[in-house]
Amino acid sequence: MPQGTDSVTLNGIVQSMRQTMIQTGPADAALRRDRLTRSMRLILDNRDALATAMSADFGHRSLYQTLAADAATTAKSLAYASQNVDVWMQAEAVGTGMDGVTASIVPQPLGVVGVIAPWNFPINLSFGPLAGVFAAGNVALLKPSELTPRTSELIAELVGRYFSPMELGVVLGDASVGTAFSALPFDHLVFTGSTTVGRHVMRAAAENLVPVTLELGGKSPVVIDRDADIAMAAERTLTVKTFNAGQICLSPDYVMLAKDRIGAFVEAARTFMQSAFPTVQSNADYTSIVSERHFDRLIAMIADAEAKGAQVISLAPSGEPGHDRTTRKIAPTLIIGGRDDMMAMQEEIFGPVLPIRTTTDLAEALAYINAHPRPLAAYYFGHDADRQQQFARGTTSGALVINDVMTHASIESLPFGGVGASGIGAYHGVHGFRRFSHARPVVWQAPEGASGLRLRAPYAEKLPVLQAMLSN
Ligand code: NAD
Repeated sequence: MPQGTDSVTLNGIVQSMRQTMIQTGPADAALRRDRLTRSMRLILDNRDALATAMSADFGHRSLYQTLAADAATTAKSLAYASQNVDVWMQAEAVGTGMDGVTASIVPQPLGVVGVIAPWNFPINLSFGPLAGVFAAGNVALLKPSELTPRTSELIAELVGRYFSPMELGVVLGDASVGTAFSALPFDHLVFTGSTTVGRHVMRAAAENLVPVTLELGGKSPVVIDRDADIAMAAERTLTVKTFNAGQICLSPDYVMLAKDRIGAFVEAARTFMQSAFPTVQSNADYTSIVSERHFDRLIAMIADAEAKGAQVISLAPSGEPGHDRTTRKIAPTLIIGGRDDMMAMQEEIFGPVLPIRTTTDLAEALAYINAHPRPLAAYYFGHDADRQQQFARGTTSGALVINDVMTHASIESLPFGGVGASGIGAYHGVHGFRRFSHARPVVWQAPEGASGLRLRAPYAEKLPVLQAMLSN
């Protein structure tokens, strides 16, 4: 455990942050905007250094993908919160039905918020939640992932330059530090990571009754219905499946379609590869798998499917290997005939491997999805409005996207989160502000108001009136 990350020290940091916040009072709109703007500047001013660190951590990471998904998208969330925070902070007057009594719902900061981030989008998933956390007037302690050590160390250094430690602190370390971190008495804890670790985090938080937001993973299905444009479906599915080499919580995890359309899907996937990635191994646009352990897991997953009778089709450009251990790049790989006894259909894939399951009809696809844990997203391709509705009504998922993949994640006005095993609670935009605020009822009674009359004894005269009222 790195120095300064033991429970006693971490507890002391949380208590100091809380005391400082109590002494200074809740952050006003100007301070909230300032924190959001500093977060944005931290990312944009240092984007090259952050991109270099991320690429070194991954082995290779596409510069475009880093600038799009970690820099631009996160800066956009922070700017959106900064532009809207004044309106979000307004108290909402509500009717009371009582003479002389007025009431409002006043959003109040929760206090010190813990943020545990994963490695796959280290900036986005650290500072994305902070957009809501800071807009709501809180301070935060962040624990980035140990799997991207250069990036996490750079984040810690930059945060030290842009923020006072009483506004935003960074704790570095592995799972053991994560365990100590999730046992701290925060006012709220945001965890983004795997469903397995999410269970540990929620258990640890429960000891202190710390409310949690859990942004987890899972297996997000793509259903390609009989009237879908197969080329469009394949192109849109592969576009996201190859982004960050499939290391995305919202990545299409498996595809379901009719047996007689598989050939057309494979052809369309090859066409996509020719235009998007004419090479994989030496292509700067194609990202490596983050670690040897993750690489080995994906290769074992492909071998397991093959051994169990699936047809494995690598979409590697001709003359290139399907994968290369030195670059840790795996070309997109289709597993035709994915079955539930295969690793690829049992665990979240989180890489450029795409099982394809054949279905006889839409009802069977819905039954399959409903027999498994609720996914973070469900994707449906097909143009018939009634069948789109049948899919929408027949499934429950964090989000539903029709005729596209992952589009919802960059729409700031939509809540982003899972349901069931894919997560608890959603953020982004105003939903993040609300998630990290306490909606506090505040009531004003007038001096001449009828305070407590219904409750005040003696009851002899009031009782018959009340009984008559209840009998009507
Ligand atoms: P992970 O769960 O292994 O680790 C996430 C973080 O938790 C890391 O900082 C890690 O150090 C920490 N941690 C590990 N063990 C811990 C413990 N026992 N207690 C507390 N903290 C602990 O996840 P990962 O491999 O970094 O990320 C991949 C997973 O994250 C995938 O399942 C993916 O779907 C999910 N994810 C979800 C979202 C989302 O928004 N829903 C976004 C990105 C990734």
